[in-house]
Amino acid sequence: MVMNIFKVDDRTRATLVFTGLGGVLLVALLATALYSFREFSLMGAKERARTAAEIVRVSLTESMVNGTIDKRAELLARIGRGAGLAEIRVVRGAGVVKQFGKGLQGETGHDDIDDAVLASGAPQYLSIDGRDGPMLRATIPYIAERGRQPACLQCHQVAEGDVLGVVTLEISLAETRKLALTWVAILVSIAGFFTIATLFLIRRQYQPMAEVAMNVETAVRRAAAGDFGMRLPVPADGVARHIAHGVNRLMETLAFDINTINSKVEQLMEYDLPRSKNMLVSTLEMVEGLVDAGRFKQAIEEDETKQQIYVRLARVIRETFDIELFSIYEVVNSKNHMRAVVVDGVIDAEPHWCDQEILVRASACRARRTGHAVDGITEPLVCSMFKGNADGSGMKHFCLPMLQSGNAGCVVQLVATPETAQLIRSLVSFLRVYLRETAPVLEGKRLMESLRESSLQDAMTGLYNRRFIEAYVETLQASVIRKGSHLAVLMFDVDHFKLVNDTYGHDAGDKVLVAVAAVLKETLRKSDILVRFGGEEFLAFLMDTTGDGGMTAAEKVRAAVEARKIPLPSGTIQKTISIGVADFPADSTDFWEAVKFADTALYTAKERGRNRVVRFTPDLWKAGT
Ligand code: GH3
Ligand code: MG
Ligand code: MG
Repeated sequence: MVMNIFKVDDRTRATLVFTGLGGVLLVALLATALYSFREFSLMGAKERARTAAEIVRVSLTESMVNGTIDKRAELLARIGRGAGLAEIRVVRGAGVVKQFGKGLQGETGHDDIDDAVLASGAPQYLSIDGRDGPMLRATIPYIAERGRQPACLQCHQVAEGDVLGVVTLEISLAETRKLALTWVAILVSIAGFFTIATLFLIRRQYQPMAEVAMNVETAVRRAAAGDFGMRLPVPADGVARHIAHGVNRLMETLAFDINTINSKVEQLMEYDLPRSKNMLVSTLEMVEGLVDAGRFKQAIEEDETKQQIYVRLARVIRETFDIELFSIYEVVNSKNHMRAVVVDGVIDAEPHWCDQEILVRASACRARRTGHAVDGITEPLVCSMFKGNADGSGMKHFCLPMLQSGNAGCVVQLVATPETAQLIRSLVSFLRVYLRETAPVLEGKRLMESLRESSLQDAMTGLYNRRFIEAYVETLQASVIRKGSHLAVLMFDVDHFKLVNDTYGHDAGDKVLVAVAAVLKETLRKSDILVRFGGEEFLAFLMDTTGDGGMTAAEKVRAAVEARKIPLPSGTIQKTISIGVADFPADSTDFWEAVKFADTALYTAKERGRNRVVRFTPDLWKAGT
């Protein structure tokens, strides 16, 4: 399973989180700024009040000393205007009232706060709502101190620390507040601008990555389902661009490779994959099928008789393909007969699906006659010989011929119930792969079996004789050409054979020939055709083998002969052999010319000192003529 890391929801969520954080930051900044400005404006106002109170104190003291205290009201008003105060009044403390009276305009306590400050000597600052907006009311006491100039205690008959009076001042905060708000607005605008710019930048960086990640996820998911067609849109720049490019290149390579594998497998299977299917899965199935078929081929090649091959094929159809109802018919060429080898998966059972006529007249069987598959599943009435549906049970047939020497040598018949019909129809192309592998091996076995019955063998060595090649050359040649394969032609000649005859006698010579023939049989494959061509000359035809493969096999034979200790009454001897190799049809499309070329190569091997293998090349031929 591919993890779904990025979704549209996640993206929106991320944007919301960033925006939310930015918003909280802005609000916090605004609150802090407002609070600080409020504090600063209050502190400033208090400072101004204290300064004004000090000016009032000094001015009043001086007016007292100068005797201009009667201008007190005017003085206060002037100070008030000068300091920008909304209100300014001075109230006498108890000691001063006692000494000088209540004063000109009732300078005794004016309100509760004045009284409280007079009593406590501690200043009070209050924010109040004035007529013209917010105000600071400051009530500041004048305390009698000894060291001050002019000396308080000189004129006032009070004790040190007594409250001489209080001054109450009201200062408008409106101006400062306005200023503060303007600054806060500027600050918030700047911060807001930067927050939005940052968000925009983050989004610009993050968005392409998120999109690429989502596309990669989709591409990977589709690839896992066998579809490599998706290409990612490539962003203009940045890491996302590299990633998208990389993924696209990967997809292209994968698509190309898998397509190549697919078409090769299709060629091998001679079967077109349905495009809608998962390409990976279907290719894998086919490759597995091919591997199984390859193993099967190897197994049947090593089987000794046709019967063993039929049994093995029947087992594959039953176990690998899970088909129960099937039969294998073999054509008996010589008599135009057919015989049932397997019926309903059982060896040598009685045939019953078809009209018995096919057994005595093979050409009555449509598959045998035409050499084509007969699809009775799609076309139930295609072959009148099939009797399976006579009772209306809906049984259908699909018959596959196995071509041998251009004709159907065998017919495999699959029988389907209405339920299994489509499944069986779909298995046919896989089964064909097996049948294609089986046909030539069966053909070889047939050839061998019929040869064994004939008099084309050399009595002394058990190999075929020259007449065999003359009789079967056409079949052999046609089979190689039809399969588009190669036949390696090996010509052998024992080195200095005359010496054996001359030294040990003719019987010893015969023993050497039998020993060499035995080495050939042991070293080469069962499917290869071995011929005693002349006195002490042998020919081998290696099926489905090129000249190069022939060289390898020849070298094995050469080494094996050289190593062979041949027992004679007078003790063992060892002989060597020279070998010439040609490739039909690579060296010549004329079979006998290929044999002649192998002989030419053999002649060269002798010339070059014997006990060696020489591959035919055209220059040898020219040199020889
Ligand atoms: P080279 O290395 O050139 O092949 O030398 P060679 O002595 O083997 O020469 P050649 O191939 O011409 O020898 C052929 C001899 O093989 C001649 C014949 O006496 C002998 N010969 C042919 N058929 C038989 C046979 O059936 N039995 C025996 N014992 N000898 C045979
Ligand atoms: Mg010879
Ligand atoms: Mg010889």
